[in-house]
Amino acid sequence: MFDEKDVILEAKHITRKFPAAGGRTLTACENVNLKFYRGKTLGLVGESGCGKSTFMRLLVSLDQPTEGEILFHGKDITKLKGEELRRNHQYIQMVFQDPSESFNPKMKIRDIICEPLLNFKRIKANEKDTAARRLLEMVDLPGDFADRYPHNMSGGQRQRVAIARAIALEPELVIMDEATCALDVSVQKTIIELVVGLQKKKNISIGFIAHDLGLIQSFAHQIAVMYLGTIVEVLPGEEISSRAMHPYTQALLGAVFDLHMDFSKKIEVIEGEVPSPLEIPPGCPFQRRCGRCMEICKKERPVLRNVTEDHQVACHLYQNGSGRQTACTGSG
Ligand code: SF4
Repeated sequence: MFDEKDVILEAKHITRKFPAAGGRTLTACENVNLKFYRGKTLGLVGESGCGKSTFMRLLVSLDQPTEGEILFHGKDITKLKGEELRRNHQYIQMVFQDPSESFNPKMKIRDIICEPLLNFKRIKANEKDTAARRLLEMVDLPGDFADRYPHNMSGGQRQRVAIARAIALEPELVIMDEATCALDVSVQKTIIELVVGLQKKKNISIGFIAHDLGLIQSFAHQIAVMYLGTIVEVLPGEEISSRAMHPYTQALLGAVFDLHMDFSKKIEVIEGEVPSPLEIPPGCPFQRRCGRCMEICKKERPVLRNVTEDHQVACHLYQNGSGRQTACTGSG
C-alpha cells in the first residue's frame, strides 16, 4: 500500500526534551520515527498531553528537536536557518484547532487568505480578490465571504478559511492539529469530507492529530498511536479495529463511543492516570495501566518492531517479529 519512493518527509529518532523546575527534564517525545507518504493521511492519536502536538510542531519548524532529523525530500530541515527556513514554510503548512487564534481579527478574510501568497510573491496586490475568491470556492464557501471579518463567521466557516489559507501555497504536507475537535459533530464530518476531497484533488499529504480514534480511523490511511511521547503502534487506518495488537491501542478502541454499541455492556475505560512526562518509568511507558504487564515490561523499554510490512508494535508480548504472542507470565 505504501511505496518508499512516495515518502516525502521522514522523522528519524526525534526527541524533544524541555528543562523543568528543580533541574528535572520533561520528555515530550522520544525517539519518534514516522514517515509521511505523498497523498496519504497519517493520523497521530493518543490522550491529551501525550506529545502529539509537540511532535507535529517540530515538523513545521515551530520548534527544534533536542535530537534527531526531519528529512524533507531527504534534506534535514532541522538545520535550516534564515531565508532557507522561511522558504521551507511554503511546503509544510499547519491548521490549528482554533483558527481565531491565528487570525488577526482586524483583517478581512481576503487579506487573511492572501497573506502567505503575498509574502512569497505568488500574487500581486491587485490579484488578491481573484485569488481569495478562488480559494474560498475551493473550500466550499461563497466568494463574497472575502469581505467578511473572522467574527462574522461560524466556527466551521473559520476552519474552512484556515484550510484555504493553508493550501494557498499548494504545500506538499498539511499538519492539522485537532482541527475539528472544537466543532459540532455534523460540521466535523463536512470538514473531514472537504479535507479528503482536497487531498484527492491536490495529492497533499496530511498529518492529522486527534484524540478521537473513532474519527481518525474513518479516513486516515495510516495511524500512529502515541503514549507518553513514544509511538507504540503504527498500522493501516482502515484495519485498526481488526488488527490492533498493542494493549493501549486496544484500550483506546474499547473506549470509542459508537451509536450502534451495545449499551447493556460495560463501556471500557482505560484505568489509571498517564504518568507525568517528568517521571517516565523505566521499561514500558504503559506498564502501570496495562493489565498484561510482565516482569520484563518493568525493566526493558519495548522497541517498535515490524510484525508485518505495514504494521509495527512496541510491546513485549510480540517479540519474535511474526505477530504471534509470546508467553505471558501474568500481570505484574
Ligand atoms: Fe503491557 Fe508489557 Fe506490552 Fe507494555 S510491553 S503494553 S506493559 S504487555
